[in-house]
Amino acid sequence: MAASFDVIVIGAGPVGLCLALALAREGITVALVEELDAGNLLDQVPRAGTNHPSTLELYDRIGLYRRLEPRGIIAPVFHYWDRREGALIAAFDHALLGADTRFPFVLQCERIKIVEEAMAMAKAEPAIDVRLGCAFTGFAQGGDVVTAHIADRAGASTLTGRYLVSAEGARSIVRKDLDIAFEGFTYPDRTLNIEVAYDFTRHGYAHRNYIVDPEEWSNLFHWKGPPERWRVHFPTRTDDDPEAITRPEALQARLQRFLPTGRDFDIVGCNLYAVHQRVAARFRAGRAILAGDAAHVNSPIGAMGLNSGVHDAFNLADKLVRILRGDASEAELDRYERQRRHVALQHTQAQTIRNRRLLEERDPAVRRRHHDELRRTAADPALARAFLLKSSLIESLREAAAIA
Ligand SMILES: Cc1cc2nc3c(=O)[nH]c(=O)nc-3n(C[C@H](O)[C@H](O)[C@H](O)COP(=O)(O)OP(=O)(O)OC[C@H]3O[C@@H](n4cnc5c(N)ncnc54)[C@H](O)[C@@H]3O)c2cc1C
Repeated sequence: MAASFDVIVIGAGPVGLCLALALAREGITVALVEELDAGNLLDQVPRAGTNHPSTLELYDRIGLYRRLEPRGIIAPVFHYWDRREGALIAAFDHALLGADTRFPFVLQCERIKIVEEAMAMAKAEPAIDVRLGCAFTGFAQGGDVVTAHIADRAGASTLTGRYLVSAEGARSIVRKDLDIAFEGFTYPDRTLNIEVAYDFTRHGYAHRNYIVDPEEWSNLFHWKGPPERWRVHFPTRTDDDPEAITRPEALQARLQRFLPTGRDFDIVGCNLYAVHQRVAARFRAGRAILAGDAAHVNSPIGAMGLNSGVHDAFNLADKLVRILRGDASEAELDRYERQRRHVALQHTQAQTIRNRRLLEERDPAVRRRHHDELRRTAADPALARAFLLKSSLIESLREAAAIA
């Protein structure tokens, strides 16, 4: 049976969209299957939003960066703060990466804006058949074809492709159907995200801040309006009642403990989410391949989930293009797994676990040691550059490229 598409991509999140666009630019035909429809695609809970320099370079390759820049905040500097002392511990400036990247800053631009802009591009791309309101339900592979089972308003049907990529997010049906273990752990507590309209820069905060505290560490990020918004993350206790801690008065009290202004904050939203550290045991089985959250999930401290997922997408696109043109064998897909699994375990997961430990450290002596080290690193340009190469995932891309 001849396949109708070169590649079927399941999921129009940032990873599926970037993959589809990168493939289409090379003349590869793509079916992009997304269960949400035009009415609710942009109506999702707030999630990722810090885009690292390495990711901006990739967006630029497909013409996405220039659409995102006006919708985001260019943030060259990020901060570590000590909440107890009310003091800045260290500031890191991406300007030190001037020789390493054309984008020596992060772009604070939320996932939903990335999806909106990339979807507009995908819809205008003749090589991409965008199927919104179309749920993927399962698949079969045999010979040189993959058959995806889908369901939309017209009922159940199938699509055929040479390859199928699961960019469906953490609940990937493909990963489950293939019985691929999602190895790792889930933190026992959940993270509380509060969206607030308030100008934190007047207290010295940068657009992106990590705040250390043994009881109530937090992350504080700025998003471009209108309306201007900040996102504050707090840990919760395992026995917290979700309803009680998300009541308006409880949110106000928590924000006032964080920054006592004496006046109510303008809270524009909140949500609670579980945080996982998991990596799939395999990223590929035959013609089915996992990318992004379908392959790995991690804590958002350090902003690595979306970024490393987008890196998967471009790595995979390059390989699929060469395979489909007959310039490379399918063994390239195993290399994709070796490269990107290494990054997921040794960079994304290892760093985000370390980041959380640093923020929540309870032992005052260890905390002091950590802070002294951060100060020393930030004060020495060579050490600070090395730190930024790691935190911005440039090092992970270089290391992956060296894996045969
Ligand atoms: C609160 C929070 C904050 C975060 N902050 C950051 C951050 O600052 N930086 C960062 O890098 N990461 C962050 N992350 C992680 C980031 O959101 C994810 O890593 C990223 O969205 C993964 O992209 P994806 O395209 O792989 O999957 P998703 O964004 O989950 O997209 C998957 C898509 O697949 C669709 N889909 C699912 N199932 C089906 C199906 N059966 N059929 C058809 N379509 C389907 C979904 O509707 C969705 O559109 C954060 C996560 C959370 C929860």
